[in-house]
Amino acid sequence: MEKTFIMVKPDGLERRLTGEIIRRFENRGLILQEMKMLTPDRTLAEAHYAVHRERPFFGELVSFITSGPVVAMVWEGPDVIKLTRTMIGATKPAEALPGTIRGDYTAELQKNLIHGSDSPESAQYEIDLWFGSK
Ligand code: UDP
Ligand code: MG
Repeated sequence: MEKTFIMVKPDGLERRLTGEIIRRFENRGLILQEMKMLTPDRTLAEAHYAVHRERPFFGELVSFITSGPVVAMVWEGPDVIKLTRTMIGATKPAEALPGTIRGDYTAELQKNLIHGSDSPESAQYEIDLWFGSK
């Protein structure tokens, strides 16, 4: 069964939305495989967002992700990478539809509550990075 890496970002914990996010995935029938709470250090945050290293928002993004605790998780289910991306909603706030996590709880581009892997390759990379090889 396919696995994906999901992370509740610092704004999600600050806003007490971790339970709501987990509830949505559990209600959908997905299986929680791994979970831990930690404040990522710079090295981990930079590795996680390595694909964005050259983007103008990279520095601010790393500062944001290291600003407080996150909840890192591995979820399993059929087509779980695409399915969770659909449930998370679009990156651009105006395109995040109501009914999605971002579309229901945030209107910000950076503080958008949650990360989800966007492809099988990034899921493998991120699961290895956060949880070791699994
Ligand atoms: N982000 C940002 N400014 C931008 C684009 C993205 O601050 O112009 C942040 C935002 O938190 C986003 C993360 O960088 O979730 C990673 O961007 P990506 O395009 O991969 O979006 P995602 O995959 O999270 O939807
Ligand atoms: Mg992304």
